[in-house]
Amino acid sequence: MSNSTDHNRSSTAALDGPPSLAIVVPCYNEEEVLSETFAALEKVMTSMLTANKISDASKLYFVDDGSKDKTWQMLEQKAQNDGHVIAIKLSRNKGHQNALYAGLCTTTEDLVVSIDADLQDGPENIKAMVDEYAKGHDVVYGVRSERKTDTFFKRFTAEGYYHLMRKMGVDLVFNHADFRLMSRKALEAFKEYPEANLFLRGIVREVGFSSSSVEYERQERFAGESKYPLRKMLSFAWEGVSSFSTVPLRAITVMGFVAGFLSLAMIFWVLGVRIFTDSAIPGWASVLLPLLFIGSVQLMCLGILGEYVAKIYAEVKRRPKYHVEEVLRRD
Ligand code: UDP
Ligand code: MG
Repeated sequence: MSNSTDHNRSSTAALDGPPSLAIVVPCYNEEEVLSETFAALEKVMTSMLTANKISDASKLYFVDDGSKDKTWQMLEQKAQNDGHVIAIKLSRNKGHQNALYAGLCTTTEDLVVSIDADLQDGPENIKAMVDEYAKGHDVVYGVRSERKTDTFFKRFTAEGYYHLMRKMGVDLVFNHADFRLMSRKALEAFKEYPEANLFLRGIVREVGFSSSSVEYERQERFAGESKYPLRKMLSFAWEGVSSFSTVPLRAITVMGFVAGFLSLAMIFWVLGVRIFTDSAIPGWASVLLPLLFIGSVQLMCLGILGEYVAKIYAEVKRRPKYHVEEVLRRD
């Protein structure tokens, strides 16, 4: 499933030992699933440790996103009893993307995997992700192979959204959410994006680097209910569009020109009716002409403003201009 050349990392791994892994889990009111999540993630970690795929310095990071239930107490207790577990508490609910970002920025390990607390993404897939990393990939996307567990509505809207985003020039991995692995190199590049409106899956694509994917079947939520009701899903979808695309602004310019041409044609028609026939009621042409003219001029002006807004938008994001993947030099 790779989409770039493989540089096998196993030779370096043999010298330095296996890489350390951090698994980052954002949690919002997840008391019902947490014990199961601890167990599932520990199981994967232990099996990778025994197989010598990851080092003993690997850690589990849980971020409590201002939960109102017992989530924090559970995390606190876990972190006190287990040296591999790190619990992070945000001051209040900041949303999935911010919570995940906070967790990612706290890690220091060689590899970082982000996964939801509800076990929908099957933690056992992390093994395949680490294997892809070992083949030389810096980013490994978890991609849903099918959406059997989704309702028709969810599948239709979600897949439609990926198509729409692509039409707007936003590069997203189809059916990939936030289950992914990043190497330290990719994560450091990712941290250079200072934007406040986070749409992590878009930023990861901006970062680039050699990537690969692991397909998996998404399960039902293990327990508890989705923290993404329709309202939040819509606002997240809009966040993606508005944080990555200026196509809506450009659309105003296009509309302005289309309206301009149409009204020009109408203006000729109105003049024709007014001058060459006697079917025009008095006042008709003198009302309609300025209306058409001003309407289209206004839309065009808005479009021009939009073009500048698009520039300002790109500037204020202060996104890094490039990331170096490798420098080869013969001294
Ligand atoms: N989450 C979070 N903050 C929020 C909402 C959700 O940290 O404000 C976490 C949640 O605990 C879970 C992940 O984000 O680990 C994904 O949420 P959920 O499973 O409810 O979303 P869905 O899978 O239904 O899209
Ligand atoms: Mg979920």
